Amino acid sequence: MVKVTLRLKLYRDPATQKALRETLLQFTDCFNAVCRYGWDNNERNGTRLHRATYKPLRQAHPDLPAQLVVSARMKATEALKSVAERKKQGRSVTCPQSHLCPVRYDARSYWVRLQDGCASLATTQGRVCVPFRLCDYYSRYANWKPCSADLCFRDGAFYLHVVVEADAPEPVCEGVLGVDLGIVELATDSEGNSYSGEAVKVVRCRLKRLRSLLQKRGTKSAKRHLKKLRAKQSRFVKNTNHVVSKSLVRSAVQSRKALALEDLRCLRDRAETVSREMRWLLGNWAFLQLRQFIAYKAEAAGVPVVLVDPRNSSRTCSVCGHCARENRKSQSRFHCQQCGFEANADFNAAVNLKARGESSDALLCRLAGHASNQAQAPVL
Ligand SMILES: [Zn+2]
Repeated sequence: MVKVTLRLKLYRDPATQKALRETLLQFTDCFNAVCRYGWDNNERNGTRLHRATYKPLRQAHPDLPAQLVVSARMKATEALKSVAERKKQGRSVTCPQSHLCPVRYDARSYWVRLQDGCASLATTQGRVCVPFRLCDYYSRYANWKPCSADLCFRDGAFYLHVVVEADAPEPVCEGVLGVDLGIVELATDSEGNSYSGEAVKVVRCRLKRLRSLLQKRGTKSAKRHLKKLRAKQSRFVKNTNHVVSKSLVRSAVQSRKALALEDLRCLRDRAETVSREMRWLLGNWAFLQLRQFIAYKAEAAGVPVVLVDPRNSSRTCSVCGHCARENRKSQSRFHCQQCGFEANADFNAAVNLKARGESSDALLCRLAGHASNQAQAPVL
């Protein structure tokens, strides 16, 4: 199953606007009340929270549909659990509270018809039908099955974030594209395309400096600034990772190839021998995120992903197979001591990963099931 979240902007007319707004506010009230109760009584069990809060909340919000009261309690339970998890890790936590908590809908409280551009939502004024326009980009998902949805209010407009799902397409594969994840280049593939990490590195270093300055100051306004800074950095990294993973998967689709990636755990092991700065970058969640993005975009597009052993991939010559530490002249250059082959070091590593992907048992097994259904067996 592949899942995708569609962000639909809802058309406004004054009556539905009022109903949605009122629903959002009352839902938020319920969410905050359950969080407050759970926090004060150190309670995170869904059933017990329900027993303790359902009746009083129904009395306080008689117009809010019962399913939404339940949904607010479920969301609050999740929030309380995640706060408890953070506390366990030794981080400072406060009672979860929200200004505007997105209303979570499920099959009992809403339906959506993507082709018709129409959603029916349970609100404080009963069911309301809200139109929207499915943009061209989303039309490919028009036949997918809608699951849950979140009603959000942002920048003066209501949005419905609908999760849709479909069976993953049959993987097609006529070869392998090796991908080396690195620092100087975020990713380099075995065709010689590289996706630069330079911009990410510059921004991250700048933000790190700023952050340590603010941390030293420690005032209230510095803390607020810090919070903003963190959000900004994570948006930047997320966007870059989306761009890189999208581009990689697109070239795999166009050339009908599988993606061969190195295991990040092994990538971390490799970093033991490199500089502190490299280790710091490699231990970063941004790299895990890039791999996740590649994995889910590949699955949605029917591109198989194989994880291959990256050991010595940066020291081995992709032409003659000679493996030596001396082959790697610097971070960026590869020069084979045996056959004289010279190339960008990341590219050389990507070609090695491609070769390992081609001989990988995992890929052969994955394709064995599909090969019998195809007129032409994949060439590996
Ligand atoms: Zn060589």
